[in-house]
Amino acid sequence: MKLTVVGTGYVGLVAGTCLAEMGNNVICVDNNPDKIEQLRKGIVPIYEPGLDELIRSNVSENRLTFTTDLDYAVKNSTICFIAVGTPQGEDGSCDLTYVLEVAKSIAKSMNGYKVIVNKSTVPVGTADKVKAIISSITQYEFDVVSNPEFLKQGAAVDDFLKPDRVIIGSESPKATELMQEVYSPFLRTGNPIIIMDVKSAEMSKYAANSFLATKISFINEIANICETVGADVEQVRIGMSTDKRIGSQFLFPGLGYGGSCFPKDVKALIKIAEDSGINPQILSSADRVNQKQRILFVEKVLKYFNNDIKGRTFAVWGLAFKPRTDDLREAPSITIINRLLELGANIKAFDPKAIDATKKILGDKITYAKNSYDTLEDADALILVTEWNEFRRPDFDKIKSMLKNPVIFDGRNQYEAKRMKERGFDYFNIGKSEVLNLNKEKITV
Ligand code: NAD
Repeated sequence: MKLTVVGTGYVGLVAGTCLAEMGNNVICVDNNPDKIEQLRKGIVPIYEPGLDELIRSNVSENRLTFTTDLDYAVKNSTICFIAVGTPQGEDGSCDLTYVLEVAKSIAKSMNGYKVIVNKSTVPVGTADKVKAIISSITQYEFDVVSNPEFLKQGAAVDDFLKPDRVIIGSESPKATELMQEVYSPFLRTGNPIIIMDVKSAEMSKYAANSFLATKISFINEIANICETVGADVEQVRIGMSTDKRIGSQFLFPGLGYGGSCFPKDVKALIKIAEDSGINPQILSSADRVNQKQRILFVEKVLKYFNNDIKGRTFAVWGLAFKPRTDDLREAPSITIINRLLELGANIKAFDPKAIDATKKILGDKITYAKNSYDTLEDADALILVTEWNEFRRPDFDKIKSMLKNPVIFDGRNQYEAKRMKERGFDYFNIGKSEVLNLNKEKITV
């Protein structure tokens, strides 16, 4: 099939590449000429495991091309996916500027029947808006379909190739049939393609993301209670998650959710609810708990150093909003580092993939290390922010010998508190009441 994907970000580039991998001819369009230039040269502008190789092989088979020419792409495709950004507006609402702009451009370029697919995360009613724009411009027949994307950054290629389910919101049998043809190669293991009405499809994405975000805020709230009542959230988590009705996923206490989706999607759903006269209590709480979680963590650091960290240096491990991505959008690291800088601290940071992206945000306000151990020299404490695999089993003797004080603040509960105590560290994690405080008296002033 001949397909166009507009927007070559984390979703569009992965979707376009995986659709090409199934034998389709895919034209990927972006209005950022630098990005297209890079992609044409074989440089992939984002880090996503497995994506480079897949792009290379599909480009060499001539199934995948990149252009800024939307008109050419639309004229040469039957199905046009819109996968541009839908950022958060000032009032928390979803900003549809890019989606509606693309809809207008597609309409102007139509030369026959097209299916326009909203893959971007958009509020209920967006397909109607897209439809209205297109029908005001063209006489050609078309259908608008909602096809929310559920891939996870860090495992995006795998998620797209083997989705748990595909949701299609469509009210046109012709468009539904075409979409089934597109997706059936991805569902050979029997996972379902779920056809529903357009508004329910649009809502499904917000409901799913908000539920997962709420799970994270829920366990973080439980962790904070554990700390005060003397329970250990790691044991509580296992106690809870072995109940099949609850499950183990998205139930890890930490520094809260970040990234380009959960924070903005929860806020957008709150706004959608408020605009329709509903006061969404659970969603608002999930958002508040999430924001507070980062601040509480900095307070732990401050408390340990008697509320004065001026001139102290902190080694920060992990900057990306989660492992296996270079994405820093809404990353807890940025909030935490900015707060520590405000309080007069110095930061030496390392991330396996997100250093370049961090430089664009923090510039020379912090020092960037070549590897994790380089951050430790002369640092007063280590702060673990993102749980990359390589931070899971580090050389603790080396850490101890390099740090000025053997203190670790673990924002992702990667280490076992008891073992850390045996190793002689003052160790703080999320949701454990026993504060190990062996070395505080010896701390260098
Ligand atoms: P992104 O910012 O990484 O990419 C968006 C791309 O669209 C950019 O390359 C930008 O240059 C391009 N663009 C913007 N306006 C354009 C225009 N007029 N013409 C052509 N290209 C244009 O965004 P993303 O993370 O890929 O997210 C895209 C959408 O998918 C959002 O709605 C997001 O909420 C949703 N989503 C994201 C994820 C994720 O994990 N990132 C997962 C599921 C859904």
